[in-house]
Amino acid sequence: HEPDGPLPIRRLQESLINRIAAGEVIHRPASALKELVENCLDAGSTSIRVTVKDGGMKLLQIQDNGCGIRRADLPILAERFTTSKLSTFSDLSRISTYGFRGEALASISHVAHLTVVTKTKTETCAWKASYSDGKLAETHPGQTSDPKPCAGNDGTTITIEDLFYNMPTRLSALRSASEEYSRILDVLTKYAIHNPNVSFVCKKAGSAAPDLSTPSSSSTPRAIRMLYGHSISKELLHSEVSNSDDDGGSESWSAEAHFTNANYQAKRIMFLLFINHRLVESSRMKRALEGVYNGILPKGSFPFIYLSLTIDPRSVDVNVHPTKKEVYFLNEEAIVERICDALLQTLTAKNHSRVFEYQT
Ligand code: ADP
Ligand code: MG
Repeated sequence: HEPDGPLPIRRLQESLINRIAAGEVIHRPASALKELVENCLDAGSTSIRVTVKDGGMKLLQIQDNGCGIRRADLPILAERFTTSKLSTFSDLSRISTYGFRGEALASISHVAHLTVVTKTKTETCAWKASYSDGKLAETHPGQTSDPKPCAGNDGTTITIEDLFYNMPTRLSALRSASEEYSRILDVLTKYAIHNPNVSFVCKKAGSAAPDLSTPSSSSTPRAIRMLYGHSISKELLHSEVSNSDDDGGSESWSAEAHFTNANYQAKRIMFLLFINHRLVESSRMKRALEGVYNGILPKGSFPFIYLSLTIDPRSVDVNVHPTKKEVYFLNEEAIVERICDALLQTLTAKNHSRVFEYQT
């Protein structure tokens, strides 16, 4: 029956609150993978190997050869707000990484089964730990299991199983396994372009041939050729811009871009944007760069652009969104304008005839 007046307000269960919050950080297998890849890179890895089952919904495993995690840190590893990357409030403005909130592993542990095997250089064996809801997993009810010694190489292997097992609606909202897998490959491809010194390998579990494989000492143009093909790489131009500020303040920034000339004409724009080495989105930057090509490409044709922008971490607003994808930064307008000018200059210097052709 319909009650008279309002219903009582009740407190949500802690575990439910955590799950909801985690679902905002981890949208799908590819967003979990992005967080994990960033952790591998932060740990100084030169090799990152990913294994995927069912588009990452059944299994997502990522093995690196980075610095590893100390045995003593394992009990709090998957707690919220535990991080080795930020210790005081003033660090918040200084660190150059976005992944500073200690939320990724915690979030994953609330929506999936998480297992970590890790070994630092000084430890004689590796340690294995499983997590559930932010804590070491319970082997028997009420009894958490300590990390177990095991064999393993230097570095860290993170295994995520049954993503969203406790969020059936989220699970059913995901696309097919092949669609999720292609999103995973897309994230890895972009990080491989940005990190040509790191070897990336990605394969489906049980399959011998990797779907993505890069060497560890490549270059950006070579990586673009390998991963995006000759039709793009043979038309690439390169440009660097920077703004130095004598005080080393928020005015100092630098940018590097690899972008196609007028001979390359795609149906949609391919835009890879890294800010301070994190793959992000900026619709304003994208729109401005599209504008640069207005007089260069015929209508309905679009370029490939890879842009890496390094700015003072104090001027990036990373708290805008929990996924940290769309970012805002200080002096955005001025920086965008300078970058667009530089691209246009390079494009017109090499393509006088083309530009003239389309302007008449
Ligand atoms: P954050 O990256 O924001 O610190 P995470 O939840 O992603 O938070 O990771 C928590 C901590 O776990 C990191 O600060 C780091 O110390 C450690 N860690 C996670 N992944 C790795 C890895 N692949 N190699 C070494 N340390 C790692
Ligand atoms: Mg992280």
